[in-house]
Amino acid sequence: MSFNTRCPAVKRLLKEAQELSQSAELFYAQPLEDNLFEWHFTIRGPPESDFQGGIYHGRILLPAEYPMKPPSIILLTPNGRFKVNEKICLSISGHHPETWLPSWSIRTALLALIGFMPTMGEGAIGSLDYSCEERKDLALKSINFKCSVCNVSNSEILPELTDKSNEDCAEARELASQIQFKNSKPSEEQKSQPELTRRNVASSSSENSSANLQTNVPPVDNRIQTSTTQANNSTTLTIMIVLSGLFIFLLLRRIYLIVDRDPFSV
Ligand SMILES: [Zn+2]
Repeated sequence: MSFNTRCPAVKRLLKEAQELSQSAELFYAQPLEDNLFEWHFTIRGPPESDFQGGIYHGRILLPAEYPMKPPSIILLTPNGRFKVNEKICLSISGHHPETWLPSWSIRTALLALIGFMPTMGEGAIGSLDYSCEERKDLALKSINFKCSVCNVSNSEILPELTDKSNEDCAEARELASQIQFKNSKPSEEQKSQPELTRRNVASSSSENSSANLQTNVPPVDNRIQTSTTQANNSTTLTIMIVLSGLFIFLLLRRIYLIVDRDPFSV
């Protein structure tokens, strides 16, 4: 697969993929083979929480404007904190004025997600306030979760947890106090997402050009709109050509008749 390395997002994502190629104890993430803008990740539930011992798998969707705009995250493993198969977005925490910073990365987003898991859902859209027992039960089951795309079970992905990850755990808690995760409004995102993703896959396989690496939801959407506009334009053009042809024909006929009747022409 060739990459348009002049595109800042591509350059940045290739660098991050290289940096994250070795699995950390708390998380692992890599792009899909055929789409640099979709990654699959695996995170460990934070220690000393209901998610301790749990391993959770999910998708990260990168916008074409990355790292200027934050990634979206979709959890695939049932966890009792977030609904699965729904897009959750990073947003500004009420306590801190910072929003997503371009210096943050996929690593930052994943650590923030780990740190954010034990926080209260407080009835936000897409969050689940399962009981401690239910979350612990899901944490146990999560180890055997197998992603159909990666085809690896969660327990095989991350190395054993040791004291080495204490610093990462502390960073996760600190980040969680700055970044919040919220589900996107179902009315906008959930309806359009699956269809657009399918179109995205279809267009990737058919075109396979470097420009197509920017296959993300907004550009694909734009492309669809553009092609509709182009179709409308060509219809208008055809009508214009037919009408002007008719006009020219009538004009020539008129001139011919005038010339024919001209008394001086004989
Ligand atoms: Zn996967």
